[in-house]
Amino acid sequence: MRKPFVAGNWKMNKTVAEARELVFNLNKQLSEVAGVEKVLCPPFPSLVAVSGLLEGTDIGLGAQNMHWEEKGAFTGEVSPGMVKEFCGYVILGHSERRAYFGETDESVNRKLIAAQKIGLTPIVCVGETLEQYESNRTSEVVARQTSLGLKDIDPAFASRIVVAYEPVWAIGTGKASTADNANAVVKDIIRPELARLFGNETAQAIRVLYGGSVTAANAAEYFAQPDIDGALVGGASLKVDEFVAITKAAAK
Ligand code: PEP
Repeated sequence: MRKPFVAGNWKMNKTVAEARELVFNLNKQLSEVAGVEKVLCPPFPSLVAVSGLLEGTDIGLGAQNMHWEEKGAFTGEVSPGMVKEFCGYVILGHSERRAYFGETDESVNRKLIAAQKIGLTPIVCVGETLEQYESNRTSEVVARQTSLGLKDIDPAFASRIVVAYEPVWAIGTGKASTADNANAVVKDIIRPELARLFGNETAQAIRVLYGGSVTAANAAEYFAQPDIDGALVGGASLKVDEFVAITKAAAK
């Protein structure tokens, strides 16, 4: 049995004061949802404040990115150790980082190896662009991102990895993938690739999320799919009622 998992990616939204307010409003209702692993991923400057507010709750904290090096002359970057001081999770390879900040399968893999070394639970994002989708390259692209991004990982650590299938054309566009299509990509592309890397038992233990315009209105359709274990939520994670409702849907 894979425990349902819901993470909120706040992206570049909320000052520290606004983050405090959002968590203050989310905390009680979110804590009451049992049976789901829940994670908030605010921007770096808010991690300290949010970690204080989440103390004593079962809500986890994640960063949206990190560098793979431990320290040094990498101006503007944040190390795995800095993330680990406050977080248990880290999002790696989000499509916005791939599109705007030069993230590649190789850099995702280096970061994943760094997460393994320091003991952070990674949420690794994969997904095809609109152009790739329209030219029927979903299978090739998602298989490549999975196999290169997750290569050289210890099978013992692999079961802890969370993979998020996020078709780029569905992120922040309001054009969510159908639940059937998302499930087919997870079942026919991602899990077979995970099985090739780590063996079938581990592939069946790894949680795979769907992400891309998930809302309270459509979340249950995804969670009803046998191969989808939760959601990575962007825009809707900034709204208390929406995010709580999505999390409750995952618990059912
Ligand atoms: C995301 O940021 O990972 C995401 C899926 O965004 P949205 O839910 O807004 O499409």
